[in-house]
Amino acid sequence: MTYKSYDKIFNQLEKKPAKMEKYKKHNAPKERKFGKAARRCSRCGRIGGHIRKYGLNLCRQCFRETALSLGFKKYN
Ligand SMILES: [Zn+2]
Repeated sequence: MTYKSYDKIFNQLEKKPAKMEKYKKHNAPKERKFGKAARRCSRCGRIGGHIRKYGLNLCRQCFRETALSLGFKKYN
């Protein structure tokens, strides 16, 4: 199960609080201390293509979209 699909069903389960609790107990994503999934994009939550340099903590896609506003300049 991906991180995103975990809370997709919340809208449906809002009317069934007992089932909601059970779902959260058994399907909540693990809190990671280290490893690939411990570092997520701060903007979209993606795991892959992560940029930690300069404390950015963005994925490559979000970096590409926000680079100009962050002050990066493309040289080619
Ligand atoms: Zn991202």
